[in-house]
Amino acid sequence: MGKQVMVVGSGFAGLTAGALLQKEGFNVTLLEAAAEWGGCAGKFQRKNFTFPVGATLGMGFEPGGLHKKVNDYLSIKTDVSELETVMDVRIGNRLFPYYTERSRFLTMWEKEEPNDSLRIMSFFEEVWRIGQTLRRHMLHYPVLPPQSKQEFSAFIRGFSPMSVTLLPYLGRTLGSLVKKHKLEKCHAFTHFINGVLMDSMQTTYEKCELMMGATALDIYHHGAFYVKGGLYRVAESLVNSLKQNGGVVKKPRKVESIRKRGDKWIIIDHRNNEYEADHVVLNVPIAAIGDLLDGSDYDKLKPSLKNKEDPTLQWGTFTTYLAIRDEMIPEDLNLFHQVMIDPEQDPSGANHFFMSLSEKDDTFRAPKGYRTMTVSTHIDLKNWQSKEDYDEQSKKIYTSVLAKLEELAPGASEALPYQMTGGPRAWEKFVKRNFGGVGGFPQIKANALWKAIQHRTKVDGLWLCGDNVFPGAGSIGATSSGVHVARSISGERIV
Ligand SMILES: Cc1cc2nc3c(=O)[nH]c(=O)nc-3n(C[C@H](O)[C@H](O)[C@H](O)COP(=O)(O)OP(=O)(O)OC[C@H]3O[C@@H](n4cnc5c(N)ncnc54)[C@H](O)[C@@H]3O)c2cc1C
Repeated sequence: MGKQVMVVGSGFAGLTAGALLQKEGFNVTLLEAAAEWGGCAGKFQRKNFTFPVGATLGMGFEPGGLHKKVNDYLSIKTDVSELETVMDVRIGNRLFPYYTERSRFLTMWEKEEPNDSLRIMSFFEEVWRIGQTLRRHMLHYPVLPPQSKQEFSAFIRGFSPMSVTLLPYLGRTLGSLVKKHKLEKCHAFTHFINGVLMDSMQTTYEKCELMMGATALDIYHHGAFYVKGGLYRVAESLVNSLKQNGGVVKKPRKVESIRKRGDKWIIIDHRNNEYEADHVVLNVPIAAIGDLLDGSDYDKLKPSLKNKEDPTLQWGTFTTYLAIRDEMIPEDLNLFHQVMIDPEQDPSGANHFFMSLSEKDDTFRAPKGYRTMTVSTHIDLKNWQSKEDYDEQSKKIYTSVLAKLEELAPGASEALPYQMTGGPRAWEKFVKRNFGGVGGFPQIKANALWKAIQHRTKVDGLWLCGDNVFPGAGSIGATSSGVHVARSISGERIV
């Protein structure tokens, strides 16, 4: 009989680890505390509308992309359409289309910022060179630092003569490249890249670790996708794969305690059900681990991991969910918008909004004649502690979101068929992110690459995955960490 694996949490990371291990012949049980699968990439339904809770923009569905590889391996079919323009980036009253095609993207900069365009081009060319060299490494799922024979082999297989060109970039921030190309004063350019980096790396260019930043600025050019219905459908396909291959999935089942009895792990859920496993895979926030583990096991965790438990090391998010009449949406409105906020003109305190609209006639999201929109922004959790602050901030951001919606679709905000907001408390309650911290740790030098939390722990049979763990945030980062766990437990080069 295959070994027993308990996966705690059904985010992209836990689902990937669980589905892959089940296919490899392990006996996987996955418990999810919430009512929905998929965590931050899950969904909720109100009236006839379906809203993605957080993640909306798909990446990694192109040939060779991570989701594509995992899905092919598990024979999962996905319903995605490739976007020619990833999103429209709005800075003040200017609009910068983010084209996936590199030459079209550079031509856009030539037109928009003619005085700086040569330097902008050379910046992106350098960044893309770094990104592409790194991608060759990432395709082999490197673990940093490598420890097992398989991890060394994955690390070495990514090497090419180009790899040595990465050495001068080690230990630097993306800010050093912006400076090198003398672009600090080109406000449109710095706002543009900051919008992208905030969303994917949780930090701005001055502080972003260079390799991670280059990956973020390269990734959309490999393909960006609208996932019909939403990324939750990919999460649900992973659940189905796990079940079809004989695994067990249960929700809502909140795991409350994990401890060792002899050489087995004993896992207890909120209904006092007891489960036994050889391996436990935690897809929970780092800040939640202390409450789950027995004192002695917890003490064995690396100090570097414990240092990351402070929830205020992560950002929070404030999300707005809107149902909109289709007739109010201009025909040519892009599905994805990054709206940069000018703090002098907008008192909400938000620095940007990421606005994602459902495709016309995507009936997984809304009945015919309607669309749904998820709008998210980063918030500093320290400013949301008292009830007064919480209510005031929520009101300000919601008002500002409606004003931005009016700019994109005049009249749309006047008769919304449904609207709802979610602050840090909602993220804690419904997606179990402690204190509402989301999106993983900012990819600054202190948290990135070698400094990131690893999927393995010092406790035998205890594994970590998710966006708090290397390589970091986003459905792709989380999925990679799930692959790392599946490879380490099985000892096989899966996917
Ligand atoms: C607002 C927002 C927008 C985003 N937009 C995008 C985007 O457009 N594209 C993109 O790729 N990424 C996006 N992301 C990031 C992406 O959604 C996340 O990084 C990724 O989904 C996180 O996956 P995860 O595996 O870390 O798990 P999570 O999503 O955190 O899921 C963990 C699961 O574990 C469960 N759990 C926790 N504790 C327990 C317990 N004790 N017992 C049982 N279950 C438990 C939770 O309920 C949850 O379902 C966005 C994130 C946010 C917040």
